[in-house]
Amino acid sequence: MPVGRFAPSPTGRLHMGNLRTALVAWLFARSSNDPFLLRFEDLDLALVAEEHYQTQELDLNALGLGWDGESLRQSHRTELYRDAIADLRRAGMTYQCFCSRRDIREASEAPNGDPRHMAHVAGFSPYPGTCRQLTQRERATKLASGRPPATRVRASEKFYRFEDLLCGTHSGPVDDFVIERNDGTPAYNLAVVLDDGLQGVEMVVRGDDLLPSTLRHLFMAEQLGVTIPAYAHVPLVLAPSGKRLAKRDGAVTLEDRLALGETAADVLTMLAASLDLADPNETVTLDSLLDRFDPSLLPLHPYTLEDNYLGGAVTPDPGHQN
Ligand code: GLU
Repeated sequence: MPVGRFAPSPTGRLHMGNLRTALVAWLFARSSNDPFLLRFEDLDLALVAEEHYQTQELDLNALGLGWDGESLRQSHRTELYRDAIADLRRAGMTYQCFCSRRDIREASEAPNGDPRHMAHVAGFSPYPGTCRQLTQRERATKLASGRPPATRVRASEKFYRFEDLLCGTHSGPVDDFVIERNDGTPAYNLAVVLDDGLQGVEMVVRGDDLLPSTLRHLFMAEQLGVTIPAYAHVPLVLAPSGKRLAKRDGAVTLEDRLALGETAADVLTMLAASLDLADPNETVTLDSLLDRFDPSLLPLHPYTLEDNYLGGAVTPDPGHQN
């Protein structure tokens, strides 16, 4: 039974894009009666707002997207991540890195710098390896300068390839990525792989903004000795501007939609229609979606919301109130 999961970060209310990914993840699991887990990726506590563990659970439940057992919080599991980092360190697989984001950007852009094969992927900055071979003395000088080091893993641009159930074949080299930030926080790219492994997750469904990171996850899974899951990266929901959807774009959360007079069923229908699983004018239930769900028919392009949808130009249907 491939275990599925949804792993949001509790940084705000879930918006239509998050809910749509959650729906796809839920359909993947439940259409074959598989377990479905909820895990909060909350390691970056500076971004987390306490209320949103609850609002996210409420919104998922309101749509009927229930999960098995208790939800889990990564912030309660930092010892596990630290132990894994310590093991990698002992195995000589890591090094300290003193580079700032700016250093990395400048090194990648330098005319005689290595023209990175991955650098063109939007929002993805591969590490150019600056601190990989520091001498003892160089490291001591950097430590003395007061900037605390992050820890990177030596992936050394090993090449990986995987078959995404929605996006097809994806391949490329893996850079030396951060597994522990310079404030001591374990990094997402380590925690996500360890947790999926420890929780027995075999089906990872998430937004396709994480597609480039997945190669890093394959490398990490190999290092940690956990099973590599199947992946389905769902194309994102876009605002009418063509940019990735954000809260400021308008009525994008379930709460916003209910305030406009819609019901949870209306929102589910809209999400289903955006996935080519329903006609916008019908009212669907999760049961009907389970019957219709076929991963090979999911749309492979982003879904762009229309201006009038976000502006709230929605006429509440009197027969349809909460
Ligand atoms: N926490 C990530 C997000 O909210 C998803 C990570 C994952 O599913 O692996 O975008």
